[in-house]
Parts: sequence; C-alpha cells; structure tokens
Amino acid sequence: MSTQESNTLIPYNKPYITGKELGYIKQVIESGALSGNGAFTKKCQTFFEHTYHFGKCLLTTSCTDALEMAALLSGITDGDEVILPSYTFVSTANAFLLRGAKLVFADSLHQHPNIDHHSLEALITPKTKAIVIVHYAGFGCEMEHIVTLCKKHNLILIEDAAQGTDSFYKGQALGSFGQFGAFSFHATKNLIAGEGGMLAVNQATFHNRSEIIWEKGTNKTAFVKGEVNQYGWVDIGSSFLPSELTAAFLFAQLEATQQIQKRRIEIWNNYYSSFQKLAEEGSCEIPNIPEHTTINGQIFYLVCTSNEERSSLISHLKNNNIQAVFHYLSLHKSRFFKDKHDSRNLPNADKYTERLVRLPLYYELSKGQQQSVIEAVLSFYQSKKSS
Ligand SMILES: *Cc1c(COP(=O)(O)O)cnc(C)c1O
Repeated sequence: MSTQESNTLIPYNKPYITGKELGYIKQVIESGALSGNGAFTKKCQTFFEHTYHFGKCLLTTSCTDALEMAALLSGITDGDEVILPSYTFVSTANAFLLRGAKLVFADSLHQHPNIDHHSLEALITPKTKAIVIVHYAGFGCEMEHIVTLCKKHNLILIEDAAQGTDSFYKGQALGSFGQFGAFSFHATKNLIAGEGGMLAVNQATFHNRSEIIWEKGTNKTAFVKGEVNQYGWVDIGSSFLPSELTAAFLFAQLEATQQIQKRRIEIWNNYYSSFQKLAEEGSCEIPNIPEHTTINGQIFYLVCTSNEERSSLISHLKNNNIQAVFHYLSLHKSRFFKDKHDSRNLPNADKYTERLVRLPLYYELSKGQQQSVIEAVLSFYQSKKSS
C-alpha cells in the first residue's frame, strides 16, 4: 500500500457514483420536465416492480416519507396500537406516532438485531392495528412466522426495508411480504439518490389511494394517465414524490445494481471469514446469518463483549485512521420516549445499542484498505488477549 493510502482516513461510508448520473440529469434538464412522476420516475418504479415482483412502486423523497405514506394508508388513528422494534431508526416510529398511534416496542433477538418474532403474539391486544418490522443489515426477519401471525390477527404488516434492497427470504424479495415495503436511497444505503426512498404497495386494494396520497390528496395521477378529464382534491395527502432530477440520479444507480451488489457482498464475505476465528474464540460476535435469508452487503458489524470494549475498539481503529461507528440507541430509552414506554425491559435492544459496531463498507473500499481494517481489528483483540 502506498504511504498516501495508509495516511488517509478510511471512512465508514463513501457514496459511489456510477458515472451515468450527470448524463441522465442533463437529459431531464434539457427535457424541461423537472417535477415528479416523469419518465425517470416511471423507469425506476418499473425496474423495482419487474425485478423484485413488488406490487405498485412509488418513489418518495425518503424512506421516512414512504413510512409516513404507509401509516396514512393503513388508516392508523388515535389510540391504535402499533408494534415495532426498539432497535431501529426514529423514522420507523415517528411515522406512526404522527398518526396518533400508541407505540409498543418489541425486543430484538438475542442472536440478531432483528425483531424477536416469538415475542410478538404476547404484545397483540384488541387495539393492535399493525406490526412494523425492520430487516436489519439487509437480513430478512422470520417472515413465515410474522406473515402467519398478521393474517391470524388481521393486522397490517409494514416492512421497513430501508436496508433490505436486493435481499431475499426463501427466494422472495424483502419488502414484498407486507401490505407495504419502505425503501431508502439515502447516501448510506447500497443504491443511492442522496436522499430518496420508495414505497412498495403490495396489496391491490391500496393502489388507487396510494397514488392519491402521493400526489397531495389529488387524483392527478389518474388525470395524467387519462383516466379522468380533470383533477382535484379527493382525499388527504402530502407531497411525497421526488423530482425527476432525483429519479434520474437513482436510475443510473439501479442500472448498476448487480455490479454494486457483487462488490459489497464480496467485501462483506471477506470481513465475515476474516473474523470467524475471533467469534469462535469468543472474543466478539460476528453477524449471525438468519436461516433462509440472503446477504446484501449493506452493513457489516461486530458485537463487542461490553460497551467499554466497543469504545476502545472504536478509538483503536480511529488511531489507525479507520472510522468505525456504532448504530441505533434503543428508542424505548430515548430522551423523547423513555417516559412514554411501558416498563418492559428489552435487554437485546440494549445489547445492540451498547455493543454493536459497524466497519467501513463501500463500493470503492480497496482490497488494501479492507486488509488494514481487518488487521487493525485483529491486532486489537490480539493485544487484549496478551494483556
Ligand atoms: C436509513 C433508514 C431509514 C431512513 O431512511 P431515509 O431515506 O433517510 O428516510 C429508516 N429506517 C431504517 C431501518 C433505515 O436504515
């Protein structure tokens, strides 16, 4: 490795630009059709509908927006209960709180940050309206169990698949199991648009209303398709659709999906095999790949044996010019929610809050750079053992 390479910081993330983004954006500018729901929006939506067999796909300005659309479409109102994991991003929760829902936080599995599916049935009451799950690091939750449970209790299932792009459970794409699947194209995800997202509306009975809510509560989408000869206000809604500039950027990324995924998965697998021995010795945990699910190379994490150990590891890596980062702070213990949470302990959510650390993973991470990260982690645990 050159000295220059060894002296520069290896960041946690570096957005990858395929090279086609500017050309597509130029096309949009030259066409003059800059607002939403134009040619590139349709190309992106069709790509997802065809590649992953989702229902109707609607691009949104973020996954946060996609989740808010899902909450509106689910008809969540004051006092409805929504079950969701505590170990997740705030948007998973805010979307439903904004509709007046009572949030019921579920714990993670001991062996994985995904929601503990065995804990769900006991949390269901006559007021429960929906279950929201998060496919952490692109690993599918136990969908067979969860889908059966939702059908049995007549609950709406929403998949926060922000990290679940191009990943599968028993061969079926994540985000296609629930009535709704929400995706993110934020700059930290596999396929990016700076800020961006998408809602997959998998149940046909929601298709019409989803287009209306997407277009500020008007039937403009039907008008554009020539189904009605004027459009107006027909329902509640908001401005959830991104401009064509965003869609053009995203389409360049979608065309490179296979190339991006191949490299990210290669990096992920290399971390995994390099740290297997650490896990066998009990030095730290490596991801426990759930049965029936694929790896999509979104996040590679280690779980340290304590919070102090994680802090030391992060500073050791920082001293080696490597940026490693922890992740969520359990929502049930957040400053905003801790007084509203019922008193249940969620020890596994706490475990990942305190002990999980994510290593650099991005398309342009070179073999040499990844080797430096691996060696720095191994040397940290080596020196712990000998001290
Ligand atoms: C990234 C992420 C979000 C938010 O996505 P945005 O597109 O930034 O709104 C929501 N949930 C999860 C699990 C995420 O990882």
